[in-house]
Amino acid sequence: MNQLKIDLGAQLPPGVDYPEIGLEDSFSFQCQGCGDCCRKRSDIVLSGYDLYRICCRFALPSQMVIDAFCQSYIGAATRLPVIRLKPRRDNGNCPFLTAESNCAIHSHKPLVCALYPLGQSIDFEPGADPSDPKIRRRCIHYFAQDTGCSGHRVTLTLREYLDSFSILEREELDLRWARDCLALSSRVRALEKRLRPIEIKYLHRKTLRALYLDYDFHEDFAPQYDRNIAQLEETLCKLEGDKTYKKEDVT
Ligand code: SF4
Ligand code: SF4
Repeated sequence: MNQLKIDLGAQLPPGVDYPEIGLEDSFSFQCQGCGDCCRKRSDIVLSGYDLYRICCRFALPSQMVIDAFCQSYIGAATRLPVIRLKPRRDNGNCPFLTAESNCAIHSHKPLVCALYPLGQSIDFEPGADPSDPKIRRRCIHYFAQDTGCSGHRVTLTLREYLDSFSILEREELDLRWARDCLALSSRVRALEKRLRPIEIKYLHRKTLRALYLDYDFHEDFAPQYDRNIAQLEETLCKLEGDKTYKKEDVT
């Protein structure tokens, strides 16, 4: 089984076991709304759907949102494009943290932010169908992180918390994203070993467009994602067909 651990931006102490929370289980956390968890952050990574939602919030195209608020680079390990929120130059805070310590995109904040102080991990089962709710319950796990914060204590069930940010509604997309990125990463890393630099650049651009750029915020995300992944598949097959593709080269 391939396990894909999703980094939620919280530094989890190694060796600490975080018990899983069931949907109807209650958990508590304390928060005084100081906004410190949004300061000095350079680890808020966006999925394609996260970026699309921010585009919807501002009614701006993807490239414009990336230029204004994000950093874009190729991940050293995955060899896939990474888009993360760009900290402000003057104080290192998230660009969406307001002077009043609120989130300017609260209703459209990225998954990692919406989940906090929860963590999420995905145990991906090869061949599993993300549209099946039972599969999602088996693959996606939630756990509570100790924020060490004081302030107002909130107690609620996991379902209530996830519903408050419509996280259950996006689980299928998030699971598909995890599945597709895992598979894509293997293929891109294998191709990079045999393509010329100009072809690798082309591949990276195609991947960035499919995962992040080629979306119209006036249209639903899912059909556009399906179309982009199908087009990227064609590109990958062509590039793999042009070269001698050996599976054992994938590490
Ligand atoms: S979780 Fe903690 S750091 Fe974040 S706003 Fe609440 S009190 Fe502040
Ligand atoms: S997007 Fe909102 S919640 Fe997330 S780090 Fe920025 S200000 Fe905080």
